[in-house]
Amino acid sequence: MGVYAVLRERMPNLLLEENFSLARHTTIGCGGVAEACAHPRSVFEAAKLFRLLESENIPHFVLGAGANVLPSENNFAGTVVKLDKIDGSSLHGGLLVGAGTTGGALLAFARENALTGFEPFAGIPMTVGGAICMNAGVREKYFGETVQKVLAVERGKLRVFSQNDCKFGVKSSIFQENIVVLRALLKAGTDDKKAIRARERFFLERRLRLPKGRSMGCVFKNPPQISAGALIEACGLKGERMGGAVVSHVHANFILNEGGTASDVRSLIGHIKQIVKNKTGIELNEEVRYLPPF
Ligand SMILES: Cc1cc2nc3c(=O)[nH]c(=O)nc-3n(C[C@H](O)[C@H](O)[C@H](O)COP(=O)(O)OP(=O)(O)OC[C@H]3O[C@@H](n4cnc5c(N)ncnc54)[C@H](O)[C@@H]3O)c2cc1C
Repeated sequence: MGVYAVLRERMPNLLLEENFSLARHTTIGCGGVAEACAHPRSVFEAAKLFRLLESENIPHFVLGAGANVLPSENNFAGTVVKLDKIDGSSLHGGLLVGAGTTGGALLAFARENALTGFEPFAGIPMTVGGAICMNAGVREKYFGETVQKVLAVERGKLRVFSQNDCKFGVKSSIFQENIVVLRALLKAGTDDKKAIRARERFFLERRLRLPKGRSMGCVFKNPPQISAGALIEACGLKGERMGGAVVSHVHANFILNEGGTASDVRSLIGHIKQIVKNKTGIELNEEVRYLPPF
């Protein structure tokens, strides 16, 4: 029995799609098809789903806005889980948000309620779950700094993580180890709405300098003391191309997909790593996450 049929039979009320296009649901816009995509509608349904996926050894991948993910060219014999039905923001001793809340919705809610602290994330394509998992941000602020507590599912059980438990690091957190963020309580200050809007605009305008086109944002983490983009550029790799994948001329840590395949993008990543290693001895590590993760 295929993954879609198993999930349909075992959780008949689960909102489920069959043949889910990874190219259509990732910003890089390439890759195969997943057998299923599940959209749990509550934290309890999500916990039940992850219990089932783990007990039946069904391969699964949580996808947020798909902004930092490179799918494989092959079809994924498993299920994607999207938490887009666990979204929304409310005020409960802080700002309580669902993992599927988009960055745009979070910022709009904060602005309408005169809450400050999220302006540096304006324009980053993300959901709250993805931003926590990746500790996304800009040099002034990373998302982990806004977190008070996280409600997550770990091995099928709901668990509350304190900020310390989340182990936020450079583009990393404990949620990269098969622990799924469902909700988060965020710290917010208060300020004048106009001042909030002006700060958002500042951060948005700065992003106009980023490359245009289909990408995953930065492909590699910065090695200690140097930016990955500067290193790639110094190795003469701006404009390097494999099939339809090309290293951006604007920012060398961005790979643009100009009608290529996921295999083109993967090959270009491998090529960049090889050249940088040969020329500088530095090993670049990917920030982007692979789907499936091997
Ligand atoms: C044009 C562009 C610009 C970008 N600029 C920036 C930037 O300035 N700063 C920055 O930090 N990043 C940037 N990025 C990368 C990306 O926006 C961030 O990494 C963002 O946090 C990804 O969120 P997402 O919801 O899309 O997660 P996805 O890309 O869907 O997933 C990323 C990882 O998070 C995991 N994940 C998703 N949801 C959950 C969850 N609920 N629980 C546990 N794990 C989960 C996924 O399994 C995957 O491993 C950029 C990307 C693009 C395309």
